[in-house]
Amino acid sequence: MTPCLTCGEPGRGSRCDSCRGYDRQHRKLSRKARRLQPFCQSCGSTENLQLDHGEETWRRRADGLPLRLQDYRGVYCSACNRANGPAR
Ligand SMILES: [Zn+2]
Ligand SMILES: [Zn+2]
Repeated sequence: MTPCLTCGEPGRGSRCDSCRGYDRQHRKLSRKARRLQPFCQSCGSTENLQLDHGEETWRRRADGLPLRLQDYRGVYCSACNRANGPAR
């Protein structure tokens, strides 16, 4: 058993099943968000865009609820994302 890289629960492989499911959802939403808004919400950059988590994202994830685009803070470039807070 190795601890999950995301939540620390012991499991097989590097991530537990619920975190693997979450990663899949996040990747899909991230692609969609960047297609809808192909620029940084803060500085307008079109480079290194990421879909940024908010408190609501983590709450829904902890409750095991499906993630929706409106549960995220929005699309930010990696520089603004870093400025917004520690890497999560
Ligand atoms: Zn996990
Ligand atoms: Zn930016």
